[in-house]
Order: sequence, then C-alpha cells, then structure tokens
Amino acid sequence: MSRVKIDTQHILKAIKVIENINFEYLALRNGIKPTQRSIIDHGQFKGIKKIYEKNGIYITHSDYKIKRTKKMLRAAPLHSHGGQIIFYASKLPKLAKALKEQEDKRIKGIYSSGRKFFSMVDETIGHLLGYPQCCINFFKQNTNSPSIKLISSAFENTKGTPSFYLNNLHAFPGSRFGALISHFPCSYTCNESKKYAQKVLNSICVSETEIREYIEFFLKLPVLVLNNGKTFFFNSVDMSAGSARYNFIYKSINQNHGFEKDRNYLCAYNRLENGNNIILGKKTISVFLNDKEVGKIKNEKPLLFTFK
Ligand SMILES: [Zn+2]
Repeated sequence: MSRVKIDTQHILKAIKVIENINFEYLALRNGIKPTQRSIIDHGQFKGIKKIYEKNGIYITHSDYKIKRTKKMLRAAPLHSHGGQIIFYASKLPKLAKALKEQEDKRIKGIYSSGRKFFSMVDETIGHLLGYPQCCINFFKQNTNSPSIKLISSAFENTKGTPSFYLNNLHAFPGSRFGALISHFPCSYTCNESKKYAQKVLNSICVSETEIREYIEFFLKLPVLVLNNGKTFFFNSVDMSAGSARYNFIYKSINQNHGFEKDRNYLCAYNRLENGNNIILGKKTISVFLNDKEVGKIKNEKPLLFTFK
C-alpha cells in the first residue's frame, strides 16, 4: 500500500499538539465553562491541584473511588487499592462544592450494588458543568446508555455534515485527549455545542495559528466508529456514503479505553492497514486493496464520519 509520507508526519505532529492540550481545563481557566469534573488516578491529584490553585481555581475531589470491572462501574472507599477519583474544580468554590454535593447524591447506593453504566448528568449537574440545554435533554433521554449509543443517536440526529468542532470520537468526554467539547452533543451539528467549541479553540489560538491549524486538521480527519465505540481515523482520498478510500489509517489516540491491549481492535486495524478502501455492509466491513478484497471485519452498523 502506498503511503504519503508528509501526511503521516503531519498527523503525528497533530496528535502531539492535541495530546498536550487539556481543552476542558482551558475552558475553565478562560471562563468558558463554570466547572470541571474529571476522573483521574488518585496519585495525580496533588500535581493537578498545584496547577489549578496557581491559576486561581478551586479544586476538590470525591470521598470515594470509582472502579471499573469488566462492564461495571462501582464506587469504593477512598483508601481501597486501585480505582480512580473524581475531581471537581471551579473559579468559584461554591460551584465546585455544589457539583460534588449533587453528584454524591446520585452516586449513593452504587457503593454496594454496582451498575453496568451510570448516568452522571442530571439537570443540575448539566447546568453546573455549562452544558447546552438541548444536550442535557438528549443525555437524559439516553440515561444509562453506553457511549456508543450516545454517539449513534447523535449521528442519527445530525442534519448535514458533522461539524469538526464536535468531533469527540478520538476521546470520549472525561478523557484528556482531543475533544474541544466535554459533553455528548445532541447531534454532530448542535449549534450551542459548536459555539462552545469555537470559544475553546479561539481561546488558545490568538497567537498560535500553527497549533490551531494542527487541531483543525486533526479534527477534520474522517473517523470509522465500530459498534463497540472504538475508532480509527484516516485520510480520505475519496468518500461516499458507506465507502472510503484512504492512504493511511490510524488507531485512536484514546488510551483510556485500553485499545492497545484489545486483540479484536488490533486485528481490525491490521486488516484495515492492509487495504486502501473500505465498503461498509450491514454486518461487515469489507477491506480492499485497490479492487481486490483483502479482508473482512465483523461489525454491525459501523459508522463513517466525515467532518467539515
Ligand atoms: Zn445540543
């Protein structure tokens, strides 16, 4: 398969740029959103606290840990081994405290029972986090849905070409990498979410045009989403509904979901890398090298995103 060297270099640079920016922190610091809530390792808290306080931001954390088992999220005592904590931050301490308090109410009861998924946005939490009302409503309608359900519903709600401003497919909300928005948009053309994302992007880029170009370039790359929510991005030389030609394809940069250890994911990646053309079927993705089929990936209803 032929590769365009300059594109690969460009994409690696773009990944570096995007990995080094915590967009949600930026939004908080610049007054674009009122509070931030993120899940981190307990050991990271001290370092983050130092940076936040230096910038006039109040920060506190949950009195419990969140633990992920295979498909379950469970709250556990703070002193227990492993797991992560949730931090709450704001320039106004009372807002961060209110967010923590509201979330504590919701988390109660999960200590003992455990849940497959739990929704961490209600009306109050959504407003405190500065999410658009339309997206709060959307999230409430999809309470306790896995990320992929939120993505596919938002995709169905999208009228026209998805906006790159809302590309959250490299990084689900809550992870550090890549998305300008920190919530699930109600559609990939949601106006309120776009306004928010534009403010975030503009806030870094007044004197940093090069960085802005890399971010835009990266977020505009088409994305293939598998039905388990895992993603690949690629450069496209030719796309139509349900098919795409590409020079290179790349694994998602989101490391929080353990993609690197997922054998099915890596296997799909190898197949995609062997080809330069995909056609999406109802239950499979067929991979071609020029016109010769070189592999199939079993996957029901994969989604192909282009952005503008
Ligand atoms: Zn919306």
